Amino acid sequence: MSTSPFLRDFFRPPLWHDWGAGFVCQTRCEGLPDPRWGIWNSTLAQELGLSEIPTQEANVHFSGNGPQVPWCSAYAGHQFGQWAGLLGDGRAHTLGRDPAGNQEIQLKGAGMTPYSRRGDGRAVLRSSLREYLGSEAMAGLGIPTTRALALLTSSLPVRRETRETAAIVARVAPSFLRFGHVEHLAWHGFPAELKRLLDLLITFHYPAARHQPNPVLSVLEAVVERTAHLMAAWQSVGFCHGVMNTDNMSLLGLTLDYGPFAFLDRYDPQFIGNHSDQEGRYAYDQQPGIGAWNCAVLGSALSVLIDDEEGIQTVLGRYEPKFSTSLLSRFRRKLGWRKPLPEDPSLIESLLSLLHRNQVDFTRFFRFLAQDAVQAEPARLEDEAEFQGPSSWTEWVSAYRERCAQEESSTGVRAQGMRAANPKYVLRTYLAELAIRQAQQGDFAMARDLETVLRTPWDEHPEFSAWALAPPDWAGALTLSCSS
Ligand code: AMP
Ligand code: MG
Repeated sequence: MSTSPFLRDFFRPPLWHDWGAGFVCQTRCEGLPDPRWGIWNSTLAQELGLSEIPTQEANVHFSGNGPQVPWCSAYAGHQFGQWAGLLGDGRAHTLGRDPAGNQEIQLKGAGMTPYSRRGDGRAVLRSSLREYLGSEAMAGLGIPTTRALALLTSSLPVRRETRETAAIVARVAPSFLRFGHVEHLAWHGFPAELKRLLDLLITFHYPAARHQPNPVLSVLEAVVERTAHLMAAWQSVGFCHGVMNTDNMSLLGLTLDYGPFAFLDRYDPQFIGNHSDQEGRYAYDQQPGIGAWNCAVLGSALSVLIDDEEGIQTVLGRYEPKFSTSLLSRFRRKLGWRKPLPEDPSLIESLLSLLHRNQVDFTRFFRFLAQDAVQAEPARLEDEAEFQGPSSWTEWVSAYRERCAQEESSTGVRAQGMRAANPKYVLRTYLAELAIRQAQQGDFAMARDLETVLRTPWDEHPEFSAWALAPPDWAGALTLSCSS
């Protein structure tokens, strides 16, 4: 395969390319043997200045068959609450930065690296398409996340629970640095590299920290704050990450590493997306607490550089109030309330408990509430079959209407604001599953349509309204695991 000079010259080395063997190694990809295009994110490509590239050339590069030698970084982490030592990059190769220097581009699934441990360095089509669609869905929802630029497939067999085929996702982020990078450098004896890592974070991602009395402590504070906001964002759309190990936590507060993630269908606070997580450590309602736990792990690793234990504890203590305030304001927006009133938390709590008891679909409920029909005609809530139950909907609805009456905006304006806060579409597990089944036959039409719809999930997209319905019965049998 020939390569034109353009893409070969596109990539700049990652900012950490010369940090030495304790952190980084340069290693070739094992490219897909017979790469085929799955999806190409032309919107994102345009943002990166990659839109003019001939398909054939992009295919060579993003399938791991390009001429340049990418970089892998070393990170460790805590998995399911236990220190697990060195973990990666087991199957991620960083091609480099875009010419503007704002984004890193990384291939996931392009073969083994020196940090692969017992893994094969591959990713299967199923998990790659889930990552592609999941990250683009989160971007569409306006939630901080890594992005997906391209998906390539191959006939190369890969052994998981069953025999599947290999794929690669090219993903993009301002940085893929994780809590686990700090843990590795702190606990495996690389203080100089740890200092460099913090310097990089300060220079490129947290410049305001430079002027603070303790810049590293300020970075911790900023990460704690972003993580708290991210958890509030996840909770507000019913997103369950599934594997919130510290190696999957972004130092930029991005949603990172899409494995057994799921969006809630019916509202169940104890929902566990990952079927390997028998104890429910990463259940939906545990996520905010795990976010705090992970920040504490980060704080402890950073204590190597911060000689101020009290300062660390103070900063960690800010997580909870940040999270609660952020979550409350997100739910206020979902419910169409602009001005904060003291009764709001209890109204929200009683609503969530009603949704739980009546097994109501989370996304559909809020979208339904956003149609001004509810304000005009509260009985419709009871009429909707899925909202029925031996409960006090009527009572809640009248309390809700009273609460809304205290807003200054008109019903129409409020409904419009609510539609912009309550997506009509989320990437339901069964939708991803249908797209995967098609893609496994070589047909990416549904995947592309899903990508389009999820890019603006607040819009009506009437031709795809079936995707906004509650899932069919067979969806209940779908399970998600870590084996990807
Ligand atoms: P995860 O829990 O999926 O984030 O996986 C933990 C780490 O294991 C990842 O960061 C990867 O470095 C590594 N890993 C997962 N799957 C593979 C694989 N198939 N080959 C090599 N490394 C892998
Ligand atoms: Mg991971």
